[in-house]
Amino acid sequence: MKLLRYGTPGREKPGLLDRDGRVRDLSAIVDDIAGEHLTRAGLDALRRIDPATLPIVESAARYGPAVGRVGKFVCVGLNYADHAAESGMAVPDQPVLFMKATSAIVGPNDDVVIPRGSVKTDWEVELGVVIGDVARDVPVDAALEHVAGYLVVNDLSEREFQLEHGGQWVKGKSCDTFGPIGPWLVTRDEVPDPQNLSLWLEVNGHRYQNGNTRTMIFTIAHLVSYISRYMTLMPGDVISTGTPPGVGLGLKPPTYLKPGDVMALGIEGLGQQRQQVIAHDADAHRASSGS
Ligand code: ZN
Repeated sequence: MKLLRYGTPGREKPGLLDRDGRVRDLSAIVDDIAGEHLTRAGLDALRRIDPATLPIVESAARYGPAVGRVGKFVCVGLNYADHAAESGMAVPDQPVLFMKATSAIVGPNDDVVIPRGSVKTDWEVELGVVIGDVARDVPVDAALEHVAGYLVVNDLSEREFQLEHGGQWVKGKSCDTFGPIGPWLVTRDEVPDPQNLSLWLEVNGHRYQNGNTRTMIFTIAHLVSYISRYMTLMPGDVISTGTPPGVGLGLKPPTYLKPGDVMALGIEGLGQQRQQVIAHDADAHRASSGS
């Protein structure tokens, strides 16, 4: 199944994408694509519904974040050896973990706002893993059973905030709009091998990232197991599994996003995102007033 949320920000309705690519409304069945509806039992209940019996949504003008009520947004750093190299960092011998504030989450095609004062806002296409059943210290060989499905994540990053302001990476990862997720959650049964998915990202039509999840250092099963040693993963938690090479930080010279840029990104079988980059209100005002 491809599950999604559509409508105005904060008031999204649950839906699914049918075989013909039409959005069907699920709001008579579930309150949201979230929480208990993402467990194995919850997804099985949704699978028993014939999509043809659900109302067609004629104008799904906006897709919201594909999952609602995300409790934790856990990110993995440096999970592709070639990205570690371009960042000038060593390949880690254990997964690097950091958190992204859930207030950063937006829809897949919403505008991305450059934070106030930022000059180093950067892109990162990543495979997102959505937890289904509670995962607490699970072994590697059972870890994927706790996965509801997968989605596209753009792990936007402000490199000055992340790397030059001291402390934890969370500062550079959590600004508003820094977490587009979607357009849909593709359930695990429709992704037979998550370790063989191509992923790509373009800015203004130029392809900067072109990778494949087969070159991850730590597999998805390993990551779910590993993270679940340190914290209990709950239904609807999202894990972003790291980015392949080609981010702005790694270019010579480094290249960052500016207002007016357009990002397009996608993962094989999981759909595409498209975001316009806009200035922070305060910066736009300063620029227009010349002060
Ligand atoms: Zn990342």
